[in-house]
Amino acid sequence: MDRSITLGLIQNTAILLAFSMIYDYSWVQGRESKTLFKKFLTGFIIGSIAIILMLTPWKQVTGLVFDTRSVLLSLAGLFFGFIPTLIAVIMALIYRFALGGSGVWMGISVIISSGAIGLLWRKYRPSWREGKYITELAVLGILVHLTMLSLTILLPSDKIIETLRNITIPILTIYPTGTVLLGILMVRQLSNWENKKAAEKLIESERRFSEMLKNTPLFSVIIDTNGNITFCNEPILKVTGYTLEEVAGKNAFEILIPEETVNAVRDAFGYILHGKTGHYNYETEMLVKDGSKLTVSWFATVLRDENNVASGVACIGENITTRKQAEAELLNARFIAEESDKLKSIFLANMSHEIRTPMNAIMGFSGLIGEPGLNEKEKNHYINIIRNSGDRLLQIINDIIDVSKLEAKQLSLNLSECNADEIFTNSVETFRKSELLLKKPGIKLLLNLPHNDEDIKFISDYHRFQQVLDNLLSNAIKYSDSGNIETGYSIRTEEGNKIVEGYVKDAGIGIPEDMNKLIFERFRQVEERRFHEGAGLGLSISKGIIDLMGGEIWFTSELNKGTTFYFKVPYLIPENEQRIPVKTQTPIPDLKGKTVLIAEDDYNSFYYIRLLLEELNASILHAENGNVVMRLVRHKVPDLILLDINMPVMSGFDCMEEMNASGIRTKVIAQTAYAMLDEKERCINAGCNGYIAKPIKKSELYEIIYRVINQDIS
Ligand code: ADP
Repeated sequence: MDRSITLGLIQNTAILLAFSMIYDYSWVQGRESKTLFKKFLTGFIIGSIAIILMLTPWKQVTGLVFDTRSVLLSLAGLFFGFIPTLIAVIMALIYRFALGGSGVWMGISVIISSGAIGLLWRKYRPSWREGKYITELAVLGILVHLTMLSLTILLPSDKIIETLRNITIPILTIYPTGTVLLGILMVRQLSNWENKKAAEKLIESERRFSEMLKNTPLFSVIIDTNGNITFCNEPILKVTGYTLEEVAGKNAFEILIPEETVNAVRDAFGYILHGKTGHYNYETEMLVKDGSKLTVSWFATVLRDENNVASGVACIGENITTRKQAEAELLNARFIAEESDKLKSIFLANMSHEIRTPMNAIMGFSGLIGEPGLNEKEKNHYINIIRNSGDRLLQIINDIIDVSKLEAKQLSLNLSECNADEIFTNSVETFRKSELLLKKPGIKLLLNLPHNDEDIKFISDYHRFQQVLDNLLSNAIKYSDSGNIETGYSIRTEEGNKIVEGYVKDAGIGIPEDMNKLIFERFRQVEERRFHEGAGLGLSISKGIIDLMGGEIWFTSELNKGTTFYFKVPYLIPENEQRIPVKTQTPIPDLKGKTVLIAEDDYNSFYYIRLLLEELNASILHAENGNVVMRLVRHKVPDLILLDINMPVMSGFDCMEEMNASGIRTKVIAQTAYAMLDEKERCINAGCNGYIAKPIKKSELYEIIYRVINQDIS
């Protein structure tokens, strides 16, 4: 090779290297922002390089110069694309054309063909870089230069053969090799840049990812294959109360998982780590520093190293404790609702039985009592049955009212001075005479009073206290067949406060242990004892009353051995309760010379009240509805009206309104069968002076009449 070729080659190589550097710095690095101007500018630079190349040729044969523009332009087409290549080609064309000479047409054609082949390669083999790119470059180089050889045809015919003889070998060896080497260089530059970019992107995405993990309200934790914590975000630390130092590197199972579930979680972890899926959803309990527990729903992904070996598990978790609790509450509420539904059905069935039984007796014996030929003893016996059945019915109704009042928090206590000895003695004596006990001759009812020097007086609701005791005594009798029943009380001091503690002890059938708590709920009965009378309300009412008094009721029991119920109430009930002064026996009112109007639509009720009032020597008037009431009072104002509230035509409330409007003033006692809710308050607000609930008891009626008659209403 002569000197000029060597020099030319070196020069060309240097220029092409410069070209590759332009590619690297201006094209590749600025890859993301390629404006049209930049494309033109790049084309201009490549065109200039092509011209420089043409300025530094080497002579092959006389009159024929060679340079590496074919290498430059084909690679320009391949790497730079259409616009820069087009500009470069046009510039090279102009220059070559201006150079002239015998090789002008071939020179021009080589410029066009090289650029075009590069561009076509780029277009039709867009992923040439991804496979065996060296082969691609070699084929491209050979193709470009075979084309170049074939273009010698454009030379003057006398020069074709000689030229071919001279250039074929270098053109098919040096030029393709140059194309390949330069191409490799440019591919490397591109890959380097791409790798760098990828690394930058990776760092950026990792930064974003860890930022997200840090700032998300979700828990995120990464643990290695041994379960040691390698990453843990702020929300976990915040919720668990640990510092980063306390958890970093520690074993997650030991520190974050409650002991009782740790084995199951470890198993799940192993399964995740060695399983095929790579990601899993599961729930665990998480231990908080103070020992409490959270429920967390985790999404876990297995992390793998470059050899695809599991290196740990990344977990994202949501604290679902509140949701879980809400679900549990919902379930519980549903259970309670279903239970209460069941209880209501039992209650209805029970009620029906409890009401029909005394009803049956009342109706049966009131029919029999009218039959001729009955002697006095039989009659009295029947009357007794009717009265007892009536009492039983009334007891049920009272119980239902009490339960409803307790439920509506409408039951209030009437506080007065109570004599404990008196209450216990009263109850025991009444039960000793009761049919309930007389039917069971095997049972003895014993009273055990403390030996006090003076009577124990404490402040409570006399009637309600007695009601509780009566309930317990009646149960003790109902649920025993023999043995002694003992009741009594003691006064004790508990935590500095004086209390009255009563008890009722029987030797009866006992209460199974599983009913311990349930027994005080309304309608609850021990299932297999349904043959005993009772609606299952007594104990729940008793508990309600005792609770209201600020006391406690409980029992101890042994099946088939007996039961002892205890109840304790404070000796003094707090001041904020309604307080009625010391109870004294009310004198019987005298209504001699007084007119009492009984407003009552139900004739039997009227008849009953009339009998009671006649004993007080009153003159009686009767009105069966509100209209009649008004007519009578307009005619002459009576001394007292016993006003039924719920009357046809015109209600008691309407009468009160009209009397108030007309300025008619007299004493009015409202009587209603609605013992519920705010009925009493409504009556008093309507202007009534007193109130009595049906069924009316003689003593209660006398008491209220006495109070009202002696009240000053002017
Ligand atoms: P009732 O007696 O009307 O069924 P209670 O509320 O008074 O309703 O009592 C609920 C249940 O408790 C009774 O059905 C009975 O099974 C049980 N029980 C109450 N007192 C006793 C007792 N002294 N001995 C045994 N069982 C009792």
